[in-house]
Amino acid sequence: MHDLGTTLVAVGTPPGRGGIGCLRLSGSEAEPIARRLFLPARQPAGVTGDGPRFGRFVDRAGRPIDHGFLVVFPAGRSYTGEASAELWSHGSPAVLAELVATAIAAGARPAGPGEFTYRALRNGRLDLPRAEAIRDLIEARTAYQARVAFSQAEGALSRRLAPLRGLLEDCLARGEAAIEFVDEGETRQREGAIADAVRQARSECCELLAAFETGRVVRNGAVVTITGQPNVGKSSIFNRLLGRDRSIVAELPGTTRDTVAEDLDIAGIPARLVDTAGLRETTDPVETEGVRRAQVARREADVTVLVLDGSRPLGALETSVIEEARTDGGRTILVRNKSDLVRQDWSGSRIETIEVSAWTGDGLPKLREAIAHRLRGSGILEDPILTNARHAEAVLGAETALARAAGGIDEGFSDEVILEDLKLALQHLDEITGDFTTEDLLDRIFSSFCIGK
Ligand code: GDP
Repeated sequence: MHDLGTTLVAVGTPPGRGGIGCLRLSGSEAEPIARRLFLPARQPAGVTGDGPRFGRFVDRAGRPIDHGFLVVFPAGRSYTGEASAELWSHGSPAVLAELVATAIAAGARPAGPGEFTYRALRNGRLDLPRAEAIRDLIEARTAYQARVAFSQAEGALSRRLAPLRGLLEDCLARGEAAIEFVDEGETRQREGAIADAVRQARSECCELLAAFETGRVVRNGAVVTITGQPNVGKSSIFNRLLGRDRSIVAELPGTTRDTVAEDLDIAGIPARLVDTAGLRETTDPVETEGVRRAQVARREADVTVLVLDGSRPLGALETSVIEEARTDGGRTILVRNKSDLVRQDWSGSRIETIEVSAWTGDGLPKLREAIAHRLRGSGILEDPILTNARHAEAVLGAETALARAAGGIDEGFSDEVILEDLKLALQHLDEITGDFTTEDLLDRIFSSFCIGK
């Protein structure tokens, strides 16, 4: 991955058959190699310039194998920043494999995962968070995830970090200059300025970290569990949310003995919906295990849907779970199912529920909305800026260094000591942008990319 002198070749389109297949070349020999694979057709009158050229592609022996377009990107005007070329053939794995072999025979080297993007980074076409966002965009499972990743690929995180880095850099520069040219009056004025900068930088870091709670869920997906006593309609609600039958619905309590899980898209957030064994005391060993797993699933969930049977009185176990839910930071949604039946009077319980009927489908859109609302935190549908655990870890590192600086200021430590912590905070932020990264870290990041990007 570290040799930047060779010309890379890879198929940019996914494996398998398709209408179009794309072969990418990047490096100083990209155009000459591409031309070895391509016989241009005579251009119709009036077609000029360096746009796509139509022609035939040839194999290693020079025999035509397909037709399509060649696009040449000059250095400085390509994704990688290097001279590049793309060949758009039909999406035939046989044709693409032959074109790759022909390119290799002509001197190209097969690209490793993310190697085109690595070169783009090295050539200053993108910074590290933007490169990572492109990977996230490719990996996105919902349109919402793609939109968030795209805004980051356009530089949203780097833009957000720029003033924070500027603040620390400025503070460091002034602080260091003042240490060098000691002047009593100036020093006193500066002390307040450092404290102000530390306070402001910490608050920005905390804001970013708070946003990561939502960001993590948007990027990695959320876990939503459905729990409740047997026969309240958990499996029916699970199936309704999925839009198909997956869980067994039965009259007999205890049918869902183990957890059943399916992927679901809730307002663009990919979620793993888990239907758990019912909350109940049991002596059956298999069911006991199911109930234990249900408790684990509930603890690990981002949102728990506690289903209650609205046609029956609340049980003691339910009441205790509802009590527990009051202190879980709003992660539990109480659902009163079977609204199509005669309601029990629960007025004494002072609980707020969403009324649904898994039978008729009433209230289900409201339940979906409530789940999405919890997953997105406050419900303000602003796109999260921090979605990547690596970035969050670096911001946390910066915040920790700044907290130490704040402690040092309170203790009356010298400016030299305080400025060391500021430097460390800045270094953590530079790990995000790629200004302070090791080759090891880059290897780790780029190995998670696909080949051809
Ligand atoms: P679980 O044990 O909590 O998973 O409950 P199930 O989904 O298996 O449902 C238990 C029984 O309640 C089944 O007979 C369902 O048909 C019935 N049921 C579930 N939801 C409703 C509902 O909204 N209205 C009515 N009338 N019956 C329901």
